Amino acid sequence: MTADLRRHSRSHLGRYLCATLLPIILFSISLSFAFYDQVRLSRLTRREISGVAAINRLYQSLTDLQKIRGLTQMKLWGAAGVEKDLARSRQRFLDRLHDRDWRRMVRTFGLESEARILESNAVHLFRVDPATTPFIDLFGEYSGLISDTLRLMQLIADRSQLILDPGLDTYYLIDILVKQIPYLAEAIGRLRGMGSGFLAKGSLDNEEAEKLQSFHSVIAARIETIRDEQVILAKVAPNLTRELELLPPQLDGIIATLCRQCRIMEGRQAGSRMAPRDFFLLATQAIEQLSPPYREGIFLLDSRLRQRRNRHLWQGTFIFFGSAVAILLMLYFNRSFYIRNLRLQEQLSELSITDQLTGLHNRRHLLAVFPRQLRHALRHGEHLFLGFLDVDHFKRYNDIYGHPEGDRVLQQIASTMNSTLRRAEDYCFRIGGEEFCILFSEQDMERARELVERLRRALEKQRIPHEGNIPWGIVTISQGLVQVPDDPDCKLEPLMSRADQALYRAKEKGRNRYETG
Ligand code: GH3
Ligand code: MG
Ligand code: MG
Repeated sequence: MTADLRRHSRSHLGRYLCATLLPIILFSISLSFAFYDQVRLSRLTRREISGVAAINRLYQSLTDLQKIRGLTQMKLWGAAGVEKDLARSRQRFLDRLHDRDWRRMVRTFGLESEARILESNAVHLFRVDPATTPFIDLFGEYSGLISDTLRLMQLIADRSQLILDPGLDTYYLIDILVKQIPYLAEAIGRLRGMGSGFLAKGSLDNEEAEKLQSFHSVIAARIETIRDEQVILAKVAPNLTRELELLPPQLDGIIATLCRQCRIMEGRQAGSRMAPRDFFLLATQAIEQLSPPYREGIFLLDSRLRQRRNRHLWQGTFIFFGSAVAILLMLYFNRSFYIRNLRLQEQLSELSITDQLTGLHNRRHLLAVFPRQLRHALRHGEHLFLGFLDVDHFKRYNDIYGHPEGDRVLQQIASTMNSTLRRAEDYCFRIGGEEFCILFSEQDMERARELVERLRRALEKQRIPHEGNIPWGIVTISQGLVQVPDDPDCKLEPLMSRADQALYRAKEKGRNRYETG
């Protein structure tokens, strides 16, 4: 039975390990996928945030370049007081390109050489003196620089994955911020340059008229696209557009005035011409009108991306710590269940081999212990002995003193047996009602006899009254003692009947004694 239990507890350990380690491994693998996903998405979103910041910076550089282009033109017409403004704008443009944040962004998207080229072209252009350079070339050069800036914006949008963002609601906003508004601003900027130049010149040829016309049709097309995209945005992201007015209401009026002036210049409409400077300032006003919605758009995009990144970070953190806590809890509870189970098993195993009344081992344990003890005795060069004990006239004891008192006597006999057979290799059993058994090893029969005699006397000494046990008047025991043959394959059953026969002889010979068999 105990061997059974041991086997059982081994398989229990295996089950415990399976029930703990396997789920933890599978759980960890699936959670690590989820965790990795969150980290990857959070990294991607961080890259997008960086892209938005870089695009915003480039838009500012773009408006600076447009301003520099316009001021250079005004200087060319001999306008006074633009020098200071021009120098300040150039410096601001260059400072932006030298900024540490900008360099970091450029490195992130692998656009170092493009940024370097933009900077060196700008520096080269800033050194050109407008007084000694034909106007149209300088204007064209600046326009080229602005186109480079617009291309860089597009590249950043591509490389930061903004365009590929699966959040459709931001896609249109990105398109508006990367393409539509910057190109609209640039178209108005070119119209400003051309228009004010032609107004200053006083006349324009066919080719120039065609150019002007192409500019206002570009402006009209861009405005139309922005309007369409705003409508789509309103559908896909109503929360986003509620706060966002991409085309300020005054813009239409200003653009209409500029176009009317162009038509007057082209001779297609009657009316008074504006002063070149007023045309320039009006167009500048139109460009400036685009800045607040642009800033607002960038802000919304940035905050939306940040929210998303924070969500991924939180989810990632939760997955990590949540699963760690879950694993720890699982380990803790499984371990405590395992230990409790093991203890219960031990208790069960102990109970299954223990006699409830006396606390001695029971017959079942005798069967398990016997072969082990026999091998142990043989290994140590000793002999194993088996003794049978029976209380004399115990039936009478119960009749005279009552059954409960009889139980107490049985307990007292058990404790006497335990105190007499104290060695680790001595075993005491209760094998039946008032029948006991002892299993012990000794060097020879003589010493074994001494031990059973000692046990008999130990009980006698206690002088437990038993009127029915004549002639002694106290509780006594009779014993049958046998020596187990030195054969490791010796069986217990025949030995037990030999010991029983010896006990029977002891009873016959008057009780309170032992006999060997
Ligand atoms: P003998 O000297 O020949 O052994 O006489 P005896 O009366 O002891 O005869 P026997 O061994 O046949 O009697 C056994 C008695 O033990 C019968 C029963 O009343 C009593 N007995 C058996 N189990 C218990 C027990 O658990 N508690 C108590 N109090 N008595 C028990
Ligand atoms: Mg009996
Ligand atoms: Mg008896």
